[in-house]
Amino acid sequence: MADSRDKATDQMKTWKQNRNTQKPDQLTTGAGHPIGDKLNLQTAGPRGPLLVQDVVFTDEMAHFDRERIPERVVHAKGAGAFGYFEVTHDIRRYCKAKVFEHVGKVTPVAVRFSTVAGESGSADTVRDPRGFAVKFYTDEGNWDLTGNNTPIFFIRDSMLFPSFIHSQKRNPQTHMKDPDMVWDFWSLRPESLHQVSFLFSDRGLPDGYRHMNGYGSHTFKLINADGEPVYCKFHFKTDQGIKNMPVEEAERLASSNPDYAIGDLFNAIANGNFPSWTFYIQVMTFEEAEKFRFNPFDLTKVWSHKEFPLIPVGKMVLNRNPLNYFAEVEQLAFDPSNMPPGIEASPDKMLQGRLFSYPDTHRHRLGANYLQIPVNCPFRTRVANYQRDGPMCMFDNQGGAPNYFPNSFSAPETQPQFVESRFKVSTDVARYNSEDEDNVTQVRDFYTQVLNDDERQRLCQNMAGALKGAQLFIQKRMVENLKAVYPDYADRVQNLLNKYNAQAPKNTIHVYSRPGASAVAAASKM
Ligand code: NDP
Repeated sequence: MADSRDKATDQMKTWKQNRNTQKPDQLTTGAGHPIGDKLNLQTAGPRGPLLVQDVVFTDEMAHFDRERIPERVVHAKGAGAFGYFEVTHDIRRYCKAKVFEHVGKVTPVAVRFSTVAGESGSADTVRDPRGFAVKFYTDEGNWDLTGNNTPIFFIRDSMLFPSFIHSQKRNPQTHMKDPDMVWDFWSLRPESLHQVSFLFSDRGLPDGYRHMNGYGSHTFKLINADGEPVYCKFHFKTDQGIKNMPVEEAERLASSNPDYAIGDLFNAIANGNFPSWTFYIQVMTFEEAEKFRFNPFDLTKVWSHKEFPLIPVGKMVLNRNPLNYFAEVEQLAFDPSNMPPGIEASPDKMLQGRLFSYPDTHRHRLGANYLQIPVNCPFRTRVANYQRDGPMCMFDNQGGAPNYFPNSFSAPETQPQFVESRFKVSTDVARYNSEDEDNVTQVRDFYTQVLNDDERQRLCQNMAGALKGAQLFIQKRMVENLKAVYPDYADRVQNLLNKYNAQAPKNTIHVYSRPGASAVAAASKM
């Protein structure tokens, strides 16, 4: 019924009601020329061929041919929204960044949530990590916290990133998702056990984007006004509460409402039900990092909340939907190397790789001047540098300001107050193998201490229901890895696999398919 339509469904109606009626309100070409007839081609006679002079047609068709830009290789399907971040607690003893300047300080933000492995038309309710990227438009340039809904990741060395993503996407010949590729990679790289365990737990299917936490995930460095550094992690905790989706509901929505998460976010904001998150940091001193029992820059591990308590910082509220999806979300470009003074990179090998990869991707997708696109533009500051020209150069290209340095006419080339913090590195350059670092202790803690028994059983069912699609030798290798975590984990998954392997035809299996009801019922009686 028309009355029960939600705000997202009614978008066209709302637009018409609110549309700007200022004149001239007329149809034009891209160059602004009024159009007399947009319905009919200009042809030689009623049945004759089209004339090249029909620029009303060619103007639109040529632009249509160029509508698509490359979709993101990862995080292609997403939703965006805008709002603000407000400081509620003073953390200046750790960080001099202007965004934390005083309690009550408000900074505008843009946020993009996403799935990871699917294409831009894929379903929102798939089992996948969720991207959680925040752009703070600060007074000293944009700060992008480009994270996920989990505090960890599958790998700890960026060298593996392209291969990891290939394994999650499509088979190079069949163009299908391929369980052999997925589980071959994961089982060959046991550092993925922690993230894989999160993925197949209940949090692997969040109910939309409002009911999940966000994490900066990497270790970063904070610098205070005296130049003193600490290491830090960033956490956004949802004020809506964590809410996950049952497997059956997620599967139902994947076919009946594949844009569920986008619609949920849009409608909540359109209805004035603004989602918010409380922002925290964890802090580790350099001395603590030196002595720590594991590598504090390892992205496959968390910092225990008990040892490094969450320190409250502020609140993020999303209160505006995008006015146009392509302009403000498809072109919204996050880059972990966007860090204002006071926030710096740690040696985290995944972060270091992303510092290169993200801006490189944007230059490819959006062009060399992507930072001039309004949604990416650091509009709270004035850009002054020596970069000029390039495709789609907008604004005044910095007018007549010198485009070389050193020069005798413009700003000083040295601004000591903004120089990055110094740190010592004295070691051998090599390609260090991190494969055998402790890959199991935190996974064991997660399995035995964080999850209750029902959650453990669902984790095992979800995992076995997907792993059953891989060849037996890959299943075996994965179960061996689980055994190193905790024998009960391996046993439960193996028992379920035994049932599936006895009954499941291999050629109908989907990558993240759920266990068949009969096998689950049988296994739960074991
Ligand atoms: P804590 O008991 O202090 O922390 C446990 C944390 O686990 C919770 O705070 C929550 O993180 C998170 N959590 C709860 N249920 C789930 C779930 N189903 N899936 C994923 N995460 C969940 O113990 P520790 O800090 O010592 O950590 C113990 C283990 O907990 C770790 O080895 C790790 O596996 C897991 N964990 C720890 C996190 C951390 O940042 N310390 C974060 C997430 C998981 P949150 O409050 O962020 O929602």
